Amino acid sequence: MAHLRHINDSTGEVVDYAYLCSDYCNSEWHPEGIAADGVEPYGGWYGCQEISCDEVCANCGEIVEGINEEEA
Ligand SMILES: [Zn+2]
Repeated sequence: MAHLRHINDSTGEVVDYAYLCSDYCNSEWHPEGIAADGVEPYGGWYGCQEISCDEVCANCGEIVEGINEEEA
């Protein structure tokens, strides 16, 4: 289960997500420079989101496990 932050383009559309392993990493993650473009600020708990495949936590680099439906 992942914690997500929305990444918006210049029109406010959600174009991507940042994946984080925990609420702690979410609140500690402060992207800078190009990586910060469009990333919404930490807005509180947004965890337990199902993701379809493994992603790397944007803050600590741990694997955030996805559902991996292809393997089921
Ligand atoms: Zn993490």
